[in-house]
Amino acid sequence: MTLKLRCDDYGFECEFILDGEKTVGLIEKLRNHFEEEHGIDYTMEAVTQMITNRGHSLESIRK
Ligand SMILES: [Zn+2]
Repeated sequence: MTLKLRCDDYGFECEFILDGEKTVGLIEKLRNHFEEEHGIDYTMEAVTQMITNRGHSLESIRK
């Protein structure tokens, strides 16, 4: 199962797009992007919640 994450869906004017296997690693990459590019240090929980709020199901990767 793959997941496409667009940074501008999360409130930034940014072209960054992640497209890959739905894994914790993919969420981590988005988190790191927010921190490195936008200077916002979200927790993994916060980012996971944001992605879920966009209508993506992350059930399959939850522990
Ligand atoms: Zn961005």
